[in-house]
Amino acid sequence: MNSLDELKAKITTCHACYLRKHYDKPVPFICGDNPEVMFIGEAPGADEVEKGKPFVGRSGKMLQTAIRMSGLTFDQIFVTNIICCRPLNNVFPDDNEPILACRPWIDAQIQLVKPKIIVAVGGQAHRHFRGSAEGITKACGNWQLYTLEGDYQVWYMPTLHPSFCLRGGDPNSTNAVMKLDSKGKEALLRAHIATIPNKLKELVK
Ligand code: SF4
Repeated sequence: MNSLDELKAKITTCHACYLRKHYDKPVPFICGDNPEVMFIGEAPGADEVEKGKPFVGRSGKMLQTAIRMSGLTFDQIFVTNIICCRPLNNVFPDDNEPILACRPWIDAQIQLVKPKIIVAVGGQAHRHFRGSAEGITKACGNWQLYTLEGDYQVWYMPTLHPSFCLRGGDPNSTNAVMKLDSKGKEALLRAHIATIPNKLKELVK
């Protein structure tokens, strides 16, 4: 694969798994002119399918606000999902077929863009990269240096998915993040994303 345009054409004509049977077309990535930071979410929803872009619905607006408040510009970002077609009934598939079938697309995006930073948005994206060792509410906000292919290293941070932030908290939970109400979770998401510009500055030192 030589270019992002070629890759986008291949994704939008992909029929490699059963999810494609139910919707018109997959939702490919969006890419700024200087994509240093790659945000990788879980899967598109109805708004994303309609607009043909990831993170444009209510969740997307929350993520966009957090990015804008951090001082990052939209030229600096690349946004995609680990699954490019909308899951049935908006429920992330519990079998591995779509994840495995879509994996070459995410790998190709990373190889072509070679971002300086990858942000996994939500537990499913975090599991895609780091396995099931640590849940998102424990791992979120923690930076790790991650070797992807050969000697290509990238800074990696998982954060909360905005759709999780839109839900209320559980005051009885023993997990500090699960206890937070919607505003508290959104504040945490913003705080995580606010650390990205400093991480970029460290990389140029
Ligand atoms: S989810 Fe991915 S692998 Fe499955 S049809 Fe859509 S683009 Fe292809």
